[in-house]
Amino acid sequence: MDLNKYNELLDKAYDKIPDNVKKSSRFEIPKVEIRYEGKNTYISNFQKILTTLDRDRKHFQGILQKAAGTMGEIRGNQLFLKSRYTEQVLDRLIKQYAKEYVLCNICNKPDTTIQKEGKRQFLKCTACGARIEIKEK
Ligand SMILES: [Zn+2]
Repeated sequence: MDLNKYNELLDKAYDKIPDNVKKSSRFEIPKVEIRYEGKNTYISNFQKILTTLDRDRKHFQGILQKAAGTMGEIRGNQLFLKSRYTEQVLDRLIKQYAKEYVLCNICNKPDTTIQKEGKRQFLKCTACGARIEIKEK
């Protein structure tokens, strides 16, 4: 069996695992895949990253752009960002987002939802039950 075939089989097996199991047993944010066009950057696997984070697209996009200090927009499945960013910078910003808005501060699992109460936001963890206020920076 060649290695490609083997990886393909692994992917297929992985797809059969129910989503909730997948989520808590293996949380890994995909590394950004980017391409440059002129002075701008496209994150070509934006949709995939968003699916892993399991957050509202506008929320993630808004905070990412703010953290990067730029404007952007969705183009197809990609996120277009004005200005050039390296993979390292974007990976770091996305990781930061996950830390603040996805991963539970107590048990570090991604089984969370964002709850809004007026202007306050809480990260509610369905794994351990913690509920922690999110401080906007
Ligand atoms: Zn938790």
